[in-house]
Amino acid sequence: MTQIQTSLNNLRNELDGTGVTLVAVSKYHPVEALREAYDAGQRIFGESHVQELCMKHTTLPVDIEWHFIGHLQTNKVKHMAEFVSMIHAVDSLKLLKEIDRQASKSGRVIRCLLQIHIAQEETKFGFTPDELRQMLSQGEWKGLSHVSICGLMCMASNTDDTQQIHREFREVKTLFEDIKSQHFSDAEEFSQLSMGMTGDYKIAISEGSTMVRIGSMIFGGR
Ligand SMILES: *Cc1c(COP(=O)(O)O)cnc(C)c1O
Repeated sequence: MTQIQTSLNNLRNELDGTGVTLVAVSKYHPVEALREAYDAGQRIFGESHVQELCMKHTTLPVDIEWHFIGHLQTNKVKHMAEFVSMIHAVDSLKLLKEIDRQASKSGRVIRCLLQIHIAQEETKFGFTPDELRQMLSQGEWKGLSHVSICGLMCMASNTDDTQQIHREFREVKTLFEDIKSQHFSDAEEFSQLSMGMTGDYKIAISEGSTMVRIGSMIFGGR
């Protein structure tokens, strides 16, 4: 077994029984590294750059589920609309509408998560809880039939203060439950909370994450 396969198996054993989905974040790693993870049974991969995603998609086996986890510009949606399985970081109604438009052209429904800005860093993207509530109350999203809103995604602050990380994830979990009962009570697909990376996935799971996005712990440093 290679180092990547050993790390992947250890992580899988740890997640076993939790019901948490593992997105193997493979950005910046060569296709050979993804192939090793694939050969060990991993099928869900996360990428955050459009060109790299498209190159890997054409090179690797077709049964891979590609998740786009990075910040996405509206003009790039068209490049992935035919094959992307889930888009994690939808941060505006404008982007959601463009995903809907491109998915419609491809005759598909694309699963999306709405990104919540919760971290203290200025640079992070996403809706604030208030912006999210406003966007959902305004209702235009309900007319979009080629996107399926499956839940929320967030990134916690990059800090050693684990209590703060707990607080941030908990806040998003509470928001998730709140939004679900207000707007998605009949929508079974609204069930995913994408939170947790290599440094904070254990905290995220303890706060209710259903999907972790883990890169360096599997593939090593970049
Ligand atoms: C790179 C990245 C990850 C994975 O980070 P690691 O610390 O390598 O596990 C998760 N989520 C997003 C949005 C990323 O860009």
